[in-house]
This record gives sequence, C-alpha cells and structure tokens, in this order.
Amino acid sequence: MLHLNEVRVSIQPLERFRKVVGGDHVTETMKIAQRLRDRFTKRVIWNINSTAVGGGVAEMLKPLVGYTRGVGIDCRWLVISGTPDFFHVTKRLHHALHGRPGDGTPLDERAREIYETTLRENAFELASVVREGDVVLLHDPQTAGLAPALKGTGARVVWRCHIGVDHRNEHAIEGWRFLEPYLEDVERFIFSRQTYVPTICDHGKSVIITPSIDAFSSKNQELSEDAIRTILVHTGLVEGPPPENADHGFLRDDGSPGRVSRRADVVRLGRPPAWDTPLVVQVSRWDPLKDMLGVMHGFSQLFDRDCPVQPELVLAGPNVTAVADDPEGAQVFEEVVTAWRALPHALRNRVHLASLPVTDVEENAAIVNALQRHAAIVVQKSLEEGFGLTVTEAMWKGRPVVASAVGGIQDQIEDGVNGVLLKDPTDLETFAELLCDLLCNPEHSDQLGAAAKERVRERFLGIDHLLNYADLLQKIDAD
Ligand code: UDP
Repeated sequence: MLHLNEVRVSIQPLERFRKVVGGDHVTETMKIAQRLRDRFTKRVIWNINSTAVGGGVAEMLKPLVGYTRGVGIDCRWLVISGTPDFFHVTKRLHHALHGRPGDGTPLDERAREIYETTLRENAFELASVVREGDVVLLHDPQTAGLAPALKGTGARVVWRCHIGVDHRNEHAIEGWRFLEPYLEDVERFIFSRQTYVPTICDHGKSVIITPSIDAFSSKNQELSEDAIRTILVHTGLVEGPPPENADHGFLRDDGSPGRVSRRADVVRLGRPPAWDTPLVVQVSRWDPLKDMLGVMHGFSQLFDRDCPVQPELVLAGPNVTAVADDPEGAQVFEEVVTAWRALPHALRNRVHLASLPVTDVEENAAIVNALQRHAAIVVQKSLEEGFGLTVTEAMWKGRPVVASAVGGIQDQIEDGVNGVLLKDPTDLETFAELLCDLLCNPEHSDQLGAAAKERVRERFLGIDHLLNYADLLQKIDAD
C-alpha cells in the first residue's frame, strides 16, 4: 500500500527578512500576507512533490511552506510514494522535458499504466484530505497525474513545473505528449522561464515564478570561519586538526542549535585537502545532466595546461541510497568512481568524491553550506538545468561561480559581472581555462563574488517568491 507522507515544517517569521532586504519591503509584504490570510481562513494550501530530501524542489518547499505558515495560513507539504518502476518512468519524463532521451525506454502505454497505477493510490488518499476551496500545488511531472483525481474535490489545482528546455526537440515533445491528458484539469501553471512554457500550456494560464533560496536556512546562513573549518574537518572534507574551542555549530531552521555529527563517505587516494589548498567544488545530485564526469575531466585539463595554481576538486552529492525519486544516482556515482580510478595517480590524488550524509537534512545542509563557503570556485557545469539553486547558493556566499550557460543559470549569472558562464558545457578546454583564470586572479574572483551576492539579494531571496505566489492565489480566487 502506497501512501502520502507529511513533512512537518517549522514556522518561519517574515520579519527576519528586514535584515537582508530592508524594512519597507517587509512591511509591504506583511500587509499583503495578512490580506491573504484573511481569505484563507479554514482553507489549506497543499504542496505535493515526490521527495522530502535532495534536489531543488525539496529545498525550496521548506522555506516557502515555513514562511506561509508563519503568516498564519495553513500550508502543508505531502510527499507521494511510488514503486521503483514509477520512479523509473518519472526520471525518464524528467530527461524528456529537459530535451534528452534518458535511457531511451519508451514512454508508451505500459509506462502510462505504471505512472497511473502509482498515482491512483496516492490520489485516493489525497482526495480524502483535500476540501473545497483548498489550493493544491502539484510539483513536477511526478505529481501532474494527480490533477484529474482532484477535480471532484472542489479544490483549485495548480501545477508547477521546475524543469524545461529553451529549444523544444523531439524528446521534449514526447514528454509533453505523455503529460498532456493530465494537464486538462489544471487551472494554472507555473514555470521558471518563459521559454519553458510548452504550447499545450500557452493559453494565458501560465505564470513565470523564479525560484529562490532562503538566506537563513542551515544551507545558507552565515558561518564563522572556525565553524566552516570544524565542520569540514569533522566530515573528512578538509585535513585536521580543527581549530581549538571553535564554535562548530549551526542554527537549525527552528532556531535550536545544531551540530554536525556524521561524516562524509569520501572516495579518495590519500589525505583530505589541506585547509589552505584552493578547492574547486561542485555540489549536485548524481545525475547525468549535472555532468560530474565532465567536471572531473575538465579539471584534469588544468594540469595539462600547467596552471600555476594547483587546486583540488571536490565533487559532492547526497549519499546515493537516499534520494527517493532519483533511481539513476547509484549508476552515475559508479561511473564517476570508475573514471576516477582511470585517472593518472597524481591527478587522482587531487580529486575527492564525497557522498554526504542525508539522515539529518539540516546537518546535510550545514555541510553543503561549509563546503560552498570554503570553495575557491564553485562550478555548476550542467548540461541542462531548470534553474540551478546551487548557483544561487554559491553566489549568495560571495563565491565566484563558473557555470554552464544553460536554462535558468542564464537568468542568474551575468557573464563577467557576477560570475562566469561557460557557453558550451561540453567545451572542457575552455572550462579549464576559465578555472585557471580565476584561480590566478583572486582580486577578480572576489569582485565577482561580491557582485554575485548583491545579485541574489536583489532577485533571488524568498520574499519576492512569496509575493509572486500571493499574486497567483489572488488571481485564482478571482477566476
Ligand atoms: N543538495 C544538497 N545536498 C547534496 C546535494 C545537493 O542539499 O548532497 C542541494 C543543493 O544544495 C541544492 C539542491 O540540492 O539546494 C539542488 O537544486 P538544484 O536546483 O541545483 O538542482 P536539482 O537537483 O533540483 O536538479
């Protein structure tokens, strides 16, 4: 029996945004939030997705649900469950909407049957808790097929698609053809970029909402240098000893103190990098579109070109057993390990493959936070990318970022102003050249990092994201 799991989220106060975006903006937002709360008495806003941990959707839902609850609206988060076959089909769909063939398995009637069977069971449970007037926000292809079952409940159904491709091709068309029958019962659609809106949703009912990060979460909060070092030494990502009597904690999302207790599982040849070794870091799920393999090969080319600064590379992702809706993780991780084994000894010594513990999501976030803050350069050399929260996270931490000019990354980085764009993500030679330029020019790197932080402050902090949702909810009520 499959079932829905509720993720409990602690309330977050909108007030805290005063520290980062100024008082007037927060006061205005609170007025809008109060009006919305008055209209949402006895109504629930449900968010439905397919994993509580790992990936950008889970990352964003936590603060969005937390701040909405914080203004007194009953906002909830449910996670569907599914069979391995179901997640195989939905991963295939994920690739298709990114314009890629994935593993090439057909999106045929058999795939549809698998998809519908799992969702039918989840829908049965969902329909029993949803009431008339509620708003149900379905996230990504994994949950789109729940829409028809919600029709009879009287709830208003919105589907948010976090992925997409700028130039539609046969794979994307195949993916949309699969999803089309379920989207007829959706009232409004949300996409991250205008170019992602498919023809079948291009009928005035689609809005663009840009993703965001939470500046105060354990993923993005300020950490002292001692705390960063202690966390990285403890997890085995940097060589010890840790600083004496250091503050080694972080604040949990409910404000209570947290401590990183678990270690990372790291594939490496010898010792962890020394504290003062410059690190090139990519943090991602182990997904072929994140191209961890390409990052490793591009990094190798730094040494072919005799870059005067000799960094080390950390590729970090969640422990592959952990992300429920990502069945490819283990295979991609194995491919990276196999390629790492084939590297020349001296290079292998400089590359660290880290599986981060995910048992405690906030502990995992604190490790990612420390790693991103310690990086000399953060890279995101994705082949396709819906938005790329890891880019925003690193920019907020004032790090210089080198990232592919694909998808939503292009909305974040202005090339040469607040980061560096790699025009062709498969061009490893240029990738190595860009890394070397930044490593040899720390002043320029610092300038890019400082400008990156301001870019995020202006455009990608959660408060405007919440306002966009408020606007959408008003429109839905007016329909
Ligand atoms: N992430 C994490 N732990 C990991 C790997 C990734 O918390 O071990 C987070 C990362 O910090 C980011 C999210 O997962 O917040 C990934 O979002 P992004 O938009 O970059 O890519 P997606 O996974 O949604 O394709």
